[in-house]
Amino acid sequence: MSRSASALYLHIPFCSRKCGYCDFNAYSGYKDGTKARYVEALCREIAAAGEGSALQTIFFGGGTPTNLEAPALVQILSTVKSHFTVASDAEISLEANPSDADLPYLETLRAAGFNRISFGVQTFNDSLLKLIDREHSGEAARQAIVHARAAGFENLSLDLMFGLPRQTVSDFERTLETALTLDIPHLSIYGLIVEEGTPFFARRERGKLPLPEESAEAAMFSRALEKTQAAGLARYEISNYARPGFACRHNRVYWRNEPYFGLGAGATGYLDGVRRVNIRRPSAYIDAALAGRELALETETLSAEETMGETMMLGLRLVEGVSLNDFAARFGVRAEQHWAPTIAELVAQGLLEHTPTHLRLTEPKGLFLASEAMAKFI
Ligand code: SF4
Repeated sequence: MSRSASALYLHIPFCSRKCGYCDFNAYSGYKDGTKARYVEALCREIAAAGEGSALQTIFFGGGTPTNLEAPALVQILSTVKSHFTVASDAEISLEANPSDADLPYLETLRAAGFNRISFGVQTFNDSLLKLIDREHSGEAARQAIVHARAAGFENLSLDLMFGLPRQTVSDFERTLETALTLDIPHLSIYGLIVEEGTPFFARRERGKLPLPEESAEAAMFSRALEKTQAAGLARYEISNYARPGFACRHNRVYWRNEPYFGLGAGATGYLDGVRRVNIRRPSAYIDAALAGRELALETETLSAEETMGETMMLGLRLVEGVSLNDFAARFGVRAEQHWAPTIAELVAQGLLEHTPTHLRLTEPKGLFLASEAMAKFI
């Protein structure tokens, strides 16, 4: 088995506290000793996975990677470099909490080879930040950006959210304007999704989560496009906007349904047509990794039909859509013939556009109702 992929995802499952809307594999309250054992466990998994693959992108996600001390992140990256071939121009990203990012911390990471940083800002409005349980302030986010630039990070991204409790369209516009004034070359702008099992879900059930109306949410989604476009950032994926040359190379691998390694507690990997999800709880993952036991919690071998469906579903997230010739070269099947009735239905609904070379969602309707359209292919 080749187990070859050009992208590596590493999961750091720790956060200083759990946000009310979060359903990621993230935990607060772990002590330093456990975090040190987690780093050791993750390095073991990296050493076992690395053989023979040349990486173009490495992504530290979470959780909050910067919940670890900088030397721990450097140790993980250096373990990757010892066991994989890493391209000299590889994109090496990490997600970061603005409060963790002082200048010496960021300088250490930059010197070790990290070259892209994505701050979980969500909003610059302090009262909204409190409402969604974030610990940083708008000012801390601004400072983090200043420090990142001073440390030598040019490839900066911010995560922003819309549809937050009590958020108005003008609140959201102010946050966008702040981000654009700071001249950030990449923005990920997500609508809040209230997932079952989260504290926000329970609050909504009790009628205690004052979410904006759907029309206000739609207005925020439109403003994101208008304001980013006016500032020279192009939307290249439903939720992602970038200046030329700053689109996230790692996430493109997911959207093109290409293989990637996923290592760490709860991480998902996709290699040789097999999707594999690791043990989720950090303590169980640590015990298994350090004892040399199997780390996969579940594996799923995808059929050709499932792989084609997922390639369509993920590819439609990209504004450019799915290349019909690339699809045919990969699967030996023409997408426009395989899904002819579905495509005709979505085109008639104004959700999908069939160009001579691509299938893509329409803007703004198809992109706003993307999940509805994409679900038709799986
Ligand atoms: S910082 Fe991110 S991963 Fe951590 S709890 Fe909040 S939303 Fe979840």
